[in-house]
Amino acid sequence: MADLNAKLVIVGGGPGGYVCAIRAGQLGLDTVLVEQGGRDGGLGGTCLNVGCIPSKALIHAADAYHQAVEQAHASPFGLRVERPSIDFARTIEWKDSVVGRLTGGVGALLKRHRVRILHGHATLEDGKTVKVDTDTGVQTVRAEHLVLATGSVPAALPGLPFGGPVISSTEALSLPSIPDRLAVVGAGYIGLELGMAYAKLGARVTVVETLDRILPAYDAELVRPVARRLKALGVEVLTGARAAGLAENGESLLVDGEGVPRRRVPANHVLVATGRRARLDGFGLDRLDLTMVGRFVQVDERCATSMRNVWAVGDLTGEPMLAHRAMAQGVVVAECIAGQPSAFDATAIPAVCFTDPEIVTVGLSPDAAREAGREVVTALFPLQANGRALSMGAEEGFVRVTARADNHLVLGIAAVGAGVAELAGEFGLALSMGARLEDIGGTIHAHPTLGEAFHEASLRGLGEALHI
Ligand code: FAD
Repeated sequence: MADLNAKLVIVGGGPGGYVCAIRAGQLGLDTVLVEQGGRDGGLGGTCLNVGCIPSKALIHAADAYHQAVEQAHASPFGLRVERPSIDFARTIEWKDSVVGRLTGGVGALLKRHRVRILHGHATLEDGKTVKVDTDTGVQTVRAEHLVLATGSVPAALPGLPFGGPVISSTEALSLPSIPDRLAVVGAGYIGLELGMAYAKLGARVTVVETLDRILPAYDAELVRPVARRLKALGVEVLTGARAAGLAENGESLLVDGEGVPRRRVPANHVLVATGRRARLDGFGLDRLDLTMVGRFVQVDERCATSMRNVWAVGDLTGEPMLAHRAMAQGVVVAECIAGQPSAFDATAIPAVCFTDPEIVTVGLSPDAAREAGREVVTALFPLQANGRALSMGAEEGFVRVTARADNHLVLGIAAVGAGVAELAGEFGLALSMGARLEDIGGTIHAHPTLGEAFHEASLRGLGEALHI
């Protein structure tokens, strides 16, 4: 097979890699993208195949079913629903069809931008040469620039290796049936999103978390409504508890911890969702002389590594491991290779937790802003006073704005409530454009929408709230 030559070769077709390839195509750069496929990947990477998209599809279906059940029980809207049931195989089929449409779309976009796609496992020879094990033999690709975008994989717990009843999020997204009992180890966003979805589908769910609280990445005020909902859904949450291993019969999780008497949590499946680790092994990364930060590849603001013309994007480069961060980095790398003065700015990366209710944050929390030495004004607007939230029957939650006390520059925005994920764009825009409370207060927000709560929180920070 003749060697392929290109301006850049990208290893990994997840959000970081494929977006980098599309942008490179737009900029006229001759680009080869290598994607190995397999159970944790494929075009679209973790995100489209076994992450963001399938999890949100499952969460949506679970919610629709749960709402039908709740409405059948007692409907505040006066609906009459007779004995709802769910065909879970059909749910998974639908979820897979959503994934299929999106991954197919990525393939088409890459072709349209004249990106050459190689399907197969890539091994690095050096910083300019990649060997790809394709179905038809080994293909050597030589390129001026190498972009590493190999992403991350679920991290296993030492006493609880994956296999049998012990599953990762990947398997949890394609279970053959709704488990009677599910134990979730780790109360981060992935564990709680999936745990809540299965609770809504009828599983009895227990969440085991070593720390003394759930969703440790979010402040206590934001997490409270989620904790209340978990309780209402009958999810048992054991904090300060350690998953010690499987019982001999493999049908229970052994749990102990300070203040938690050793006990067995019966479980058909134990979902280990304690984090993800960068994919660093098995593709010759050790042949490059890269500076690392812990278990991540170190990059500068252009996403350049310590080796000339070797770039890295996405989960491989550290936290926050989020698809939109990977995509933004991918764009920066393509533009830098094309000679543009592009740089990645991490100040306004929104994070959304698709629990019930949803949580959105962007920028600094009030505590983090104070710790950074800022004098701040913080204002909160409850969804109870928002017409749209009430008209949806979902009044739990609030929008909170944190701004500098002296000039009202917005430093952070957060919200918790049903449907608030869709506010992430407005929050991110406000922060990245350097909005002040007056800018948001002076923007006409459509009525009735949840966005009005952001407007009102900003007005409240100025002492001018209209509806509270
Ligand atoms: P990945 O998406 O991991 O892609 C890497 C790709 O590289 C894979 O397709 C892999 O097959 C390929 N690859 C690796 N090594 C090689 C090799 N040697 N040769 C060829 N190909 C290779 N993020 C959000 O922003 N929002 C969410 O709601 C969200 N939900 C999530 C839910 C779950 C259950 C999970 C697991 C993750 C979720 N994430 C979410 C995180 C998100 O999926 C990742 O941050 C994102 O996919 C990272 O993109 P990436 O390009 O760095 O890597």
